[in-house]
Amino acid sequence: MEMKLIYPKWPKLPNQPEFNLPPVGPTVFAAALPERVKVRFYDENVEPIDFGGSCDLVGISCMLTCQTPRAFELADRFRSEGKTVMMGGIAVMLHAEEAAEHADCVFLGEAEGRMETVISDFENGRLKKVYNYLGDFPDTRLIGTARRDILKRDLYNYRGIQMVDLVHASRGCRFNCFPCCTPYLGGRRFRPRPIDKVVEELESIDNNRLFIVDNSLAQDDEWEKELFRAIAPLKKKWISHPIKDDEEILKLAEKAGCWYVYQAVFDTSDYIRDRIRRYKDHGIGVEGTIILGTDDQTLDDIRRLVDFLLEIDLDLAEFTVLTPFPHSSIAASLEEQGRILHRDWKRYTAGEVVFKPAKMTVDELQWAYQYAWDTFYYDCSKEFKMAKLYLDVMKKEEADGSARELRPNRRRWGREA
Ligand code: SF4
Repeated sequence: MEMKLIYPKWPKLPNQPEFNLPPVGPTVFAAALPERVKVRFYDENVEPIDFGGSCDLVGISCMLTCQTPRAFELADRFRSEGKTVMMGGIAVMLHAEEAAEHADCVFLGEAEGRMETVISDFENGRLKKVYNYLGDFPDTRLIGTARRDILKRDLYNYRGIQMVDLVHASRGCRFNCFPCCTPYLGGRRFRPRPIDKVVEELESIDNNRLFIVDNSLAQDDEWEKELFRAIAPLKKKWISHPIKDDEEILKLAEKAGCWYVYQAVFDTSDYIRDRIRRYKDHGIGVEGTIILGTDDQTLDDIRRLVDFLLEIDLDLAEFTVLTPFPHSSIAASLEEQGRILHRDWKRYTAGEVVFKPAKMTVDELQWAYQYAWDTFYYDCSKEFKMAKLYLDVMKKEEADGSARELRPNRRRWGREA
């Protein structure tokens, strides 16, 4: 049987460079499908969807809240043409009831070990409206190597540079940060994959630069050390979310090829200053992730925070506006206080204020968001700062002999495909 698998377009933040990373959700989902399902994949962010041609089933994979309006539109269109539509992915788990209004079938939860049942139900004409596995997590030994072969790889280039490939070494998160939906989606338990399976997957990826997209690597010291020791011989260079602030672990991360990390910066404390310095002492770059609009912040606090980021010499900063995504604890408390302005999901980009802030007006917070981007990048654009990080990684690759030839994107430059 044949499945058309769609990853809908989503609105980019206006301040972000126009590049697209190969999506991980659809490739992980495809790996969980029975072998008899042939997948034709379309990422609408980089290519038009082929609405023509036949297929047995349409799958729509959706990661972001702001992607759901387009996902629902696409589902309606395919269904009006007589196709059966199944939807899944993180954002579908957050918006399950709405998704069920647009799809024939909604799959909630993680797909491993469940797709044989779903597909044979479909083949036998008894597809259920909802398969709900929320909170019922599969054994991580079942997670296979993502099906990156379904991607059209040369579409994931930026100015001729191949984008990083995304990979998971674990799922779940034992922390419970207030703006985050992960506790609802992936559970409060750290669920590592077997390290040999992670190494096998990393080895199979035809790309030296990766993004280990785990929620946080800093969840189990022994596992983290074992992982870094195991992947060091591969000489891959990788990005991740935070690494444990521990001298031995940072040294191992450096040896294992850590290129740069995303690190939340929430205040101007010496702790944050030293945390960033310790990464940099190990040759690890830092992209700060900064949420604006928390209840304790004033406009002056935001101005001071931006000055601080410049002073501590962050390599990159990603500013977002606090956003009450469904099933986060911040959504529950703002809801209770009647401070959510609307639920127009396409505006839930984390670049637009959708709630009433505590110590600013809506307009002031919107202004502060733009002020933060403009001020941090006032003398050097994000593209330029990223180029510096790329130069760093190229030097590391030259040094350990893992450098690869750059792959020009022929389509982009109009040469033969
Ligand atoms: S923000 Fe990160 S560390 Fe905190 S709960 Fe979410 S995934 Fe875990």
